[in-house]
Amino acid sequence: MDKIKMTTPLVEMDGDEMTRILWKMIKDELLLPFIELNTEYYDLGLKHRDETGDQVTIDSANAAKKYGVAVKCATITPNAARMDEYDLKEMYKSPNGTIRAILDGTVFRAPIVVKGIEPMVKTWKKPITIARHAYGDVYKASEMKILGAGKAEIVFTGEDGQEFRELIHEFDGPGIVQGMHNLESSIDSFARSCFNYALETNQDLWFATKDTISKKYDHTFKDIFQDIFDADYKEKFDAAGIEYFYTLIDDAVARVIRSEGGYIWACKNYDGDVMSDMVATAFGSLAMMTSVLVAPDGTTEYEAAHGTVQRHYYKYLNGEETSTNSVATIFAWTGALRKRGKLDGIDELVDFAGKLEEATIETIESGTMTKDLALISKLEHINAVNSEDFIKAIRSLLEKKIR
Ligand code: NAP
Ligand code: MG
Repeated sequence: MDKIKMTTPLVEMDGDEMTRILWKMIKDELLLPFIELNTEYYDLGLKHRDETGDQVTIDSANAAKKYGVAVKCATITPNAARMDEYDLKEMYKSPNGTIRAILDGTVFRAPIVVKGIEPMVKTWKKPITIARHAYGDVYKASEMKILGAGKAEIVFTGEDGQEFRELIHEFDGPGIVQGMHNLESSIDSFARSCFNYALETNQDLWFATKDTISKKYDHTFKDIFQDIFDADYKEKFDAAGIEYFYTLIDDAVARVIRSEGGYIWACKNYDGDVMSDMVATAFGSLAMMTSVLVAPDGTTEYEAAHGTVQRHYYKYLNGEETSTNSVATIFAWTGALRKRGKLDGIDELVDFAGKLEEATIETIESGTMTKDLALISKLEHINAVNSEDFIKAIRSLLEKKIR
């Protein structure tokens, strides 16, 4: 069989610890035998980030912008312990934060659904994708403890010196206040990323806030979404046969629990933080969650939602056997290869991505899986395997599909 050829490079962002080990196994076993892999490689491993003063992270994000598609391995976000462990020059920012700031994107998280791992919500049949707005609100708020009686106000001073005031509360005793903000430009980008991703994945888009109570703040989110939808997306949604639907956040929660899944749920920053952990847990496993960053210009970066699985890495370094789940990282690659194939009109690449996903899911559904899944699977006959044998089992199924 001839290897599949690629025309445009895929931006490859390598990472840290156990996921870096899996990354190489996936390339060697599941990609390089079948594809003439054309990647522009950036090593975001912590050692190399330190050597470059984190410039490599910035370069990789700019490359993603240039070529349009990237695939990223999980990376360490340094903390005090990592400063010592890697003898770092600086406590670098989270690579994901740096990349997101450059691409100005929205993160979409979706579970990979397999038979035997049943969602805790019995009606859920299809994945629910959470889109979380990643700017502002309570995450960039200013807060104050009120020590006693007095008046708290919001004051806005325009560049021309004009002041606008709004009373928060007349305190007659101690209390607390908080001031938060968001930007029309950021909400605009968020909305466009959501509409684009709905079209790309052919799923309905739900959006919810509390605009009945928050008549200016949340209502602005609602209005921006609706204006952009009406102006730029309504016809495209009609043509694709998908729907945009706005409701109140409490109504959305009730509908989500009763639903079958199969849609994108756009959430404000705090709602997305809380709801994505709820949805991930209810679907069964963090190791089965994918994460996609979509920028308003269409640049897309794929990764697994989990971290570098440090505990397993130390076992690996000790020469002990590991059983680390590579599914979300495999799906990061298939997502990126499919997108590259679609953009470049390479049908074989799109087809390959589909077959690798099928081979991965069928391997688990046939009973062969890593330990984390073996613990929660409802299948009768389970063959729990190590990290490497899981990937080899996928390869043998993949070869059958390709021949
Ligand atoms: P983690 O790597 O997600 O792992 C937490 C635990 O979840 C693991 O110890 C393991 O449980 C289980 N787990 C996660 N992924 C798994 C997989 N693929 N297969 C099997 N089990 C899996 O989170 P962490 O240990 O809190 O963070 C480690 C490092 O990752 C940190 O330095 C953090 O900065 C980084 N991180 C990076 C990203 C990213 O790049 N996107 C995201 C989150 C965290 P058991 O130990 O019980 O087996
Ligand atoms: Mg959280």
